Amino acid sequence: VAGDIMLRVSGLESCYGRIKALKGIDLEVREGELVALVGANGAGKTTFLRALSGVQPISAGRVFFNGDDITNSRADQRVRRGICQSPEGRQVFGPLSIEDNLRLGAFTQPKAQVEGDLDKVFAMFPILKEKRHLPAGTLSGGQQQMLAIGRALMGRPKMLLLDEPSMGLAPLLVEEVFNVVKSLKAQGMTILLVEQNAFAALAIADRGYVLETGAVTLTDTGQALIANEQVRAAYLGM
Ligand code: ATP
Repeated sequence: VAGDIMLRVSGLESCYGRIKALKGIDLEVREGELVALVGANGAGKTTFLRALSGVQPISAGRVFFNGDDITNSRADQRVRRGICQSPEGRQVFGPLSIEDNLRLGAFTQPKAQVEGDLDKVFAMFPILKEKRHLPAGTLSGGQQQMLAIGRALMGRPKMLLLDEPSMGLAPLLVEEVFNVVKSLKAQGMTILLVEQNAFAALAIADRGYVLETGAVTLTDTGQALIANEQVRAAYLGM
């Protein structure tokens, strides 16, 4: 059962120069929900997550987090509130060790809890523990994806924003990453998951939104979207 509304976005617009990439997005995420945002390449998914994180300018609309208007908050203030993003394309710091990458994710957190949180991430991703002293750049794509998720978790998110966690991964690793997302949800984490892999994302999501050229065209439960003829034809190759 979903809890109170944690994130409420209304009429969100964002532009690149004169091009409007987001044309008035309305979206909600409740506490404990896993919400999937799916859509084709270039639909605006990444732009939307970046606008939520505060690294992409918002030209119209409002963003509320736990009832507070954060539309104009800086990115670091949003992290302090508990909005933590695992970015697209992994974007880990290649020359830094795996452990140091994880510690960077805890920049908003009191020092006393960092060791314990590191242990939790290492328990979730044993391969990261094994390689903790190696440069992050030496990890495989799937391992870097896990590191990016682990780094976001070090910020003790109230809401985790995951941008294309399965991108570029071999099928076995895709399954592993989705299992991680499922287990985070089972632990009560609130998650907004952006994916091109629409079927896998909707299959584990409570609800989903379909984004097309900067606008939401459909929203429903994950199961209903998987069963929707339009979605099946356009995104699930069925
Ligand atoms: P992808 O899966 O490829 O990341 P997406 O759904 O995340 O796609 P966005 O990357 O958010 O889509 O892009 C939305 C639109 O904004 C696209 O038309 C894209 O060409 C445009 N766009 C994205 N980044 C820029 C930029 N830095 N400058 C200009 N236009 C951009």
